Amino acid sequence: MKRFDVIIIGGGASGMFLASELAGRRVALIEANDRVGKKLLATGNGKCNLTNLDMNIVHYNRPSFVETYLDRFDAHDTIASFERMGLITKVIDKRVYPYSECASTVLDILRGAVQKCGTEVFTGHIVNSVEYFADTYTVGGVTKVDGQTKSFSFTADNVVLATGSNATFGRNSNNLFTALGHTNREFTPALVPIKTNKEPIKGLSGVRVKAGVRCGARYEVGEVLFKDFGVSGIAVFNMSSEIARGKLKIGSNLTIDFMPEYSVGEVENLLRKRGNVRVGELLTGTFHSKVVDRILWASGVNPDDLAQPKISAIARTIKTYTLKIEGLGDSSLSQVMSGGLNIREFDHNLMSMKSKNAFAIGEALDVDGDCGGYNLQWAWTSARVVAEYIRKQY
Ligand SMILES: Cc1cc2nc3c(=O)[nH]c(=O)nc-3n(C[C@H](O)[C@H](O)[C@H](O)COP(=O)(O)OP(=O)(O)OC[C@H]3O[C@@H](n4cnc5c(N)ncnc54)[C@H](O)[C@@H]3O)c2cc1C
Repeated sequence: MKRFDVIIIGGGASGMFLASELAGRRVALIEANDRVGKKLLATGNGKCNLTNLDMNIVHYNRPSFVETYLDRFDAHDTIASFERMGLITKVIDKRVYPYSECASTVLDILRGAVQKCGTEVFTGHIVNSVEYFADTYTVGGVTKVDGQTKSFSFTADNVVLATGSNATFGRNSNNLFTALGHTNREFTPALVPIKTNKEPIKGLSGVRVKAGVRCGARYEVGEVLFKDFGVSGIAVFNMSSEIARGKLKIGSNLTIDFMPEYSVGEVENLLRKRGNVRVGELLTGTFHSKVVDRILWASGVNPDDLAQPKISAIARTIKTYTLKIEGLGDSSLSQVMSGGLNIREFDHNLMSMKSKNAFAIGEALDVDGDCGGYNLQWAWTSARVVAEYIRKQY
């Protein structure tokens, strides 16, 4: 049976970053897929938004927990680490991307760094058990050899769960650590489209607008993309996280502000300047024709009416176009999952308080962030924290 200093389960963002930091140690990186970093390639629409210069803790579900780790490794440390590996970065609106704007560049750099460290990488290996006995972890699972399913088993002093979540094409393997005594908050899709009532979005599927989105106390301006089941886009994604975190309820209103730069009064003034037109012509030239149709419908006006007496009602609809939240898209559409292993059961080095020398990093823990590089930053930060601890031991 192969023995290692550290077994990292999961060859995604956090697992690879950790392996790249453990040069000179006997490390096994075990990945279920036939290649490492598959999800990384899909990040940031294929561009990989690897961190954000606005590293405010309000962007996380567990702000004070995350803060203690960000104090040790933040966005600037991420940029410096990747630059040391050879990645040139660029900043667009505080979001940090590889200069190539190509996620595969990040994966190439990480894969190269892992290789240089001498890590043994086992792809196509699905871990299904972690057992602890006499200061040793035994990690077992299955792999395919010549089309035949074979079991495998490795041992190590330390084990790190870096298995992420089942968002998009991921896998939920948190049962490996609940078996060690950990509790877990069930994963709920986050950063995902929101399902709404159908009437207000009728005919809008495929239309994109730059708008303000309000849900409870949260307000964001960004792209909104209408779907046949609801709404999507970055501003909507961040609202979905509020629902996944239990801060907003299904059944709440989500309002769209189609003219976020203007107050209601300013919108009224703009419209009044159109003169003595009919309602049907009033908004042509301002919005997509399908949006115009829905705004007039929601304002309860008739296209043949004279516009001037209806302008207050129309301006109010433009500023507070109301949808009712009916649910969240499923995990196959989500960028992250909200939920995971209970953070209170891990110490300041992210070592399990249930089982010595077992660690969890990345999305497997109950930490999720907004859109904009916050989730990958957590993957890098948590991996670095564990690397620092392990490096002191070996
Ligand atoms: C479409 C999309 C776009 C995104 N864009 C961004 C972005 O631009 N910026 C950002 O910050 N975040 C983004 N995210 C989120 C980000 O990708 C994740 O938060 C991050 O990858 C989590 O890192 P991780 O290491 O915890 O998990 P992952 O990167 O998911 O890696 C976990 C790995 O563990 C493997 N694994 C799981 N179970 C087992 C098992 N039992 N045995 C062996 N291997 C196992 C998985 O196959 C996987 O490769 C995006 C996510 C998606 C889906």
